[in-house]
Amino acid sequence: MSGSPALDRVARGQLCTGCGLCATIAGNVAMAMVPPGYLRPVVSGPVTPAEDAAIAAACPALVVDESDRAAAPASDPIWGPSFFTGTGFTTDTALRHQASSGGVLSGLLVHALAEGLIDFVVQTSADAEVPTANRTGASADRDAVFAAAGSRYAPSSPLADLETWLARGQRFAFVGKPCDVTALRARARHDPRIAAQVPLMLAFFCAGIPSAAGTDRILKRLGVDKGDLASFRYRGDGWPGFATATRRDGSAERMSYADSWGDILSKEVQFRCKICPDAIGNVADIACADAWYGDERGYPSFDEQDGRSLVIARTPAGKALLDAAIAAGRIEATPLAVREIDRMQPAQARRKRQILSRLMALAVAGRPLPRYRGLDLWAAARQERLGEQARSFAGLVRRLLQGRA
Ligand SMILES: Cc1cc2nc3c(=O)[nH]c(=O)nc-3n(C[C@H](O)[C@H](O)[C@H](O)COP(=O)(O)OP(=O)(O)OC[C@H]3O[C@@H](n4cnc5c(N)ncnc54)[C@H](O)[C@@H]3O)c2cc1C
Ligand code: SF4
Ligand code: SF4
Repeated sequence: MSGSPALDRVARGQLCTGCGLCATIAGNVAMAMVPPGYLRPVVSGPVTPAEDAAIAAACPALVVDESDRAAAPASDPIWGPSFFTGTGFTTDTALRHQASSGGVLSGLLVHALAEGLIDFVVQTSADAEVPTANRTGASADRDAVFAAAGSRYAPSSPLADLETWLARGQRFAFVGKPCDVTALRARARHDPRIAAQVPLMLAFFCAGIPSAAGTDRILKRLGVDKGDLASFRYRGDGWPGFATATRRDGSAERMSYADSWGDILSKEVQFRCKICPDAIGNVADIACADAWYGDERGYPSFDEQDGRSLVIARTPAGKALLDAAIAAGRIEATPLAVREIDRMQPAQARRKRQILSRLMALAVAGRPLPRYRGLDLWAAARQERLGEQARSFAGLVRRLLQGRA
């Protein structure tokens, strides 16, 4: 027992996303790497009842409540609210190449900094000491945003130092996984500094956070000693780019995205991600993703090409930022019909359709249930074939009862 009923419930259900919010709320909670390589809260002393209540109200492992989401001109049960849906890229060609897909997230951040909309960006990049791991820091100019561009398929806790960023008394943009943004929005209901100081919250579509053990498997397959690493990138430097391990002597080994994500990292994803009801940033101002082109069989193609992002503006603030960045010539974007996303992101669509059946599996197995509200879960479930729902339900019950989930 940790002394925090909220954190005990999270641990019992293996529901933690690793966002780090509890560590900023409670003085005696810190994030630490636990086997097989996930960031989890570790309690070192008493958690007060007020701290516990604050965690219970905003921790995305326990509650994802989007019922107070502002109405948007378009909303889809699978793809969420939209003030604009399109594909695009940053016109900064070096940044586009460095970034994960089309560099729209980074391009928008550069625009917001250049125009003085914010003073800095809180974002996640490679840890200088452990190149495979992440650290969250503040970027105040284009070069810092450039250095942090690219997806890092490893645990991050971008909210763990929220208090430090707020204490600066300046305005900042926040970039994180959808669950990080959900937690930040939920915390904002109780902390007015967040609405005043964080005018922009950006997210990317998220298939899940793999354990650090996944990265170790990549290194092993590449034949690179972890102690010999000078840098490690998960992708980017092209689209989708390669997982690249560079040794101290400058030599490098690399692995395709299809192999690194498809064969290794996707198999190391933490449990909470399998029941994630919003992995597409419904409550972010802007959510970006890979705007994959379908191959001849209708599956996303991972052939190398110029990066292209899917971009969804989800709030008036997000739409205003995107419009301004387009007008300033920093972003190019073309509208896209929402059903086109089905072909770009089939795994995201399937997970959303199957969330209800997976929650039922948790209930049957006697596991703690998170509270999900305002997420269109019934409407999404109705789009799934009954046989698929049954398979998803039975598969998860079996894995839970066998202790394999
Ligand atoms: C774990 C993970 C899972 C993903 N799953 C999907 C998916 O299922 N479908 C999909 O289309 N796209 C997914 N992406 C997102 C995708 O890789 C791109 O981020 C997206 O296409 C936007 O690209 P961009 O070029 O605009 O981003 P960039 O301009 O490259 O910016 C990326 C931003 O993400 C931040 N970031 C990178 N890694 C992390 C991290 N671990 N934690 C917090 N912040 C981070 C960076 O600081 C940067 O601000 C995932 C990314 C990650 C990290
Ligand atoms: S999900 Fe976030 S707030 Fe909840 S226990 Fe995990 S790190 Fe803490
Ligand atoms: S899949 Fe969901 S819970 Fe998992 S890291 Fe992504 S947004 Fe968070």
